[in-house]
Amino acid sequence: MEYYKAEYIWIDGVEPTAKLRSKGKTVPKGEEPPIWGFDGSSTNQAAGFNSDCVLQPVFSCPDPVRGGDNILVMCEVLLPDMSPHPTNTRAACAAAAEKYADFDMWFGIEQEYTFFSGVTPLGWPKNGFPAPQGGYYCGVGSDEVFGRPVVEDHMDACLEAGLSFAGINAEVMPAQWEFQIGAIGAPEVADQLWVARWLLYRIGEKYDVSARLDPKPVLGDWNGAGAHTNFSTRQMRESFDACVAAAEALGGNHDEHIANYGDRIELRLTGLHETCSYKEFRYGVSDRGASVRIPWQVDRDQKGYIEDRRPNANCDPYKVTGLILNTVCSAAS
Ligand code: ADP
Ligand code: MN
Ligand code: MN
Ligand code: MN
Repeated sequence: MEYYKAEYIWIDGVEPTAKLRSKGKTVPKGEEPPIWGFDGSSTNQAAGFNSDCVLQPVFSCPDPVRGGDNILVMCEVLLPDMSPHPTNTRAACAAAAEKYADFDMWFGIEQEYTFFSGVTPLGWPKNGFPAPQGGYYCGVGSDEVFGRPVVEDHMDACLEAGLSFAGINAEVMPAQWEFQIGAIGAPEVADQLWVARWLLYRIGEKYDVSARLDPKPVLGDWNGAGAHTNFSTRQMRESFDACVAAAEALGGNHDEHIANYGDRIELRLTGLHETCSYKEFRYGVSDRGASVRIPWQVDRDQKGYIEDRRPNANCDPYKVTGLILNTVCSAAS
């Protein structure tokens, strides 16, 4: 019999920020990747005396690392009775998207991250700091950006996997970068973002470089890392008033969003470094110091989308997109 390789990827139960796990399976050619399982007692998802958790495939794509007919399989974690595991945040996101399917909401997520070599940001001096921020954002040159070969490899891999990969850029803090996934619906945008994160870590192995989603990797006068979440409903794509109404709706549920936008958000949303304090909610046109930005083209065109700037780099995109769906669509219903 001939086989292909399927790498099953899932989200574990580590708190406060869950991690990705994966393991490989051979599947007979011509067959779909089946339901599988794992030892939940090793991932903070079960007790040792009753340790089986179920892997339910939800999104598959070509595996750009192994190539050939091999695939990556993003999974939901289920209990043995096939109900969602308590750590499974995708099920609620999918339910919200289903409930508000008429709104045809699209999301584009900007994932920021930081490369590390050991405990030091990549390219930083072992003792001390690089020159202050100012010249690194979208920079070019070996004294300005660190890790570009990994970034390029990752972009190629995401495209080979067929992800909706919008672009990349070097960020304000040296060794910090961004890629964007979208604009597509939920939960697909979050499935793809988790796969893109997995590919980033996996490709980093080849370079002995680790990518981290720490929201504030270096304390002090250095930018944190976020996951700006751009979104639109069908109405917003047709009317500016609907864009403003969506921003108002987010303002009406600020605390719940902050509580679900990633661990240690208060370290990043300080009011400095292109953020609005987590204690306030503000929106405005072109305002990168606001919680929610209305892009200038949206103001000009009087329609489009808005950018929720609050989510941390280490957020769970199932929680973020599910919450935006519930808050914005319930207010407009
Ligand atoms: P920024 O100027 O904040 O750095 P980026 O260019 O990095 O913005 O990211 C913008 C994101 O917004 C992209 O992922 C893009 O796909 C997404 N986007 C564009 N139009 C829409 C829309 N109508 N609805 C949702 N997302 C959108
Ligand atoms: Mn961006
Ligand atoms: Mn950015
Ligand atoms: Mn942005």
